Amino acid sequence: MSRVLLENIVKVYQGGFEAVKDACLDIADREFVVIVGPSGCGKTTTLRMIAGLEEITSGQISIGDRIVNDIAPKNRDIAMVFQNYALYPHMTVFDNMAFGLKLRKNSKAEVASRVKDAAEILGIEKLLKRKPKALSGGQRQRVALGRAIVRKPKAFLYDEPLSNLDAKLRVTMRTELKSLHQRLETTSIYVTHDQAEAMTLGDRICVMHEGIIQQVDQPMEVYNRPVNRFVAGFLGTPHMNFVEGKIETVGNSVFFNFSAGKIELPARMNECLNAKNGRDVVFGFRAENVSIASKDDKKSSINAKVEVVEPLGDRLNVYFNIKCMTSEKWLVANLDPHVRLTPGQTLRFKLNMDKTHVFDKGDTGKNLT
Ligand code: ATP
Repeated sequence: MSRVLLENIVKVYQGGFEAVKDACLDIADREFVVIVGPSGCGKTTTLRMIAGLEEITSGQISIGDRIVNDIAPKNRDIAMVFQNYALYPHMTVFDNMAFGLKLRKNSKAEVASRVKDAAEILGIEKLLKRKPKALSGGQRQRVALGRAIVRKPKAFLYDEPLSNLDAKLRVTMRTELKSLHQRLETTSIYVTHDQAEAMTLGDRICVMHEGIIQQVDQPMEVYNRPVNRFVAGFLGTPHMNFVEGKIETVGNSVFFNFSAGKIELPARMNECLNAKNGRDVVFGFRAENVSIASKDDKKSSINAKVEVVEPLGDRLNVYFNIKCMTSEKWLVANLDPHVRLTPGQTLRFKLNMDKTHVFDKGDTGKNLT
C-alpha cells in the first residue's frame, strides 16, 4: 500500500511566513492527485515536504505505513520529477537513468534490464547513448521520467514537469503521463499552476490558495460544484463570469437583483437563499452556459451589447457588456461558431440557470448554493 497521508501540515518559513496552513490530504494507493493553484499558494512547499526536501513545522506525513517526518529524502522511497529535468549533463541517458539504481547497489544485469524496460515504455530506447545536450526538451523530460520509473518507487512526485515544454508538446506529454500512470498505477502527486493539466490528469484535484487547501475532489465535481468563488474562478477557460448584486425574496421565489436587471433563481436554491433577503452576493455562471435568447425567453436572460467576437474554430467566445450602474461590466459567452454576431449589436443572452452559482460577497466567497 502506498497511501500518502498529510495530517495538519504547517510550514512556517524563517522570518515567520506561513506558506502552508493546516493542510490535510489523504492520497490513496495508486491514486493520481494534482495540487493546483496560483503562484505562491504553497503547492511546491507541500510537495517538497512530502519529498523531505523541506522541513515540516508541524503535522505528520506518512508514506505507505511509515511516518516519514524524520526520514531522509533518499530513504522515503519516492521519485521526484522536476520542471528543469535535473539530468546530469556529463552522463549518457542510460547512466542518468541507471544512476539511482547503481547507488542502491542493484546488480549490473538488474540495472540494465530495468533501464531497458523503462526506455521501452517511454519510447527512448534509441537515445540511451546520447548525452542530455543532444536531446530535445520533450526527450529530456522523458529521460527524467525514465529515471523516476526505473526505481519502482512507492510514489512519484511531479513538480511542474511540463512547464518548460512548448504548448503543443505539453499537451502530448500530458497524455503520455496519463497513459503511463494507467499502466504503472503508482501513487502520484503532481503540482501545477495549469488548471487544464490538473483537470485532465488528476483522479482528484486539490485546489490551494494562500497556503490553504480549498477543495479536494474529482475534477468535474470541483468544476461543477466549487466550494467558493476562488475555486470557481480558478478552474475553467474562459473564467467564470461574476456579477455583484443582492438577493431578493418575493413570496416563495428568490431573485438575484443587480443594477442591470433581476433574474429569478432556480427552485433548487430556494432553501439555501430564501432567508437571505437583502444579502450582498456574487452571481456566477460559466461562458458555456450562456446562449442567445429567443424572443419569448424573457426569464433568465440578460440584455447586453456585443463588444468583441473571438472565433476559436470549434467555438466562439463573445464578450458582451451589461451596464452596471454607471460603469460597464464585460461578460463572456462561449457559443456555437455558426452564430453571426457583430460588435455593437444588442441582444438578450439566456443563462442555463441549472448551472449557475451564488457566492457570498464577503471574504470567504463561500458558495451559498
Ligand atoms: P510557484 O507556482 O510560483 O512555484 P507555489 O505555489 O509552488 O508557487 P511555494 O513555492 O510553495 O509556492 O511558495 C509558497 C510561499 O512561500 C510563497 O509566498 C513563497 O514566496 C514563500 N516561500 C517559498 N520558499 C521560501 C523560503 N525559503 N523562505 C521564505 N518564504 C518562502
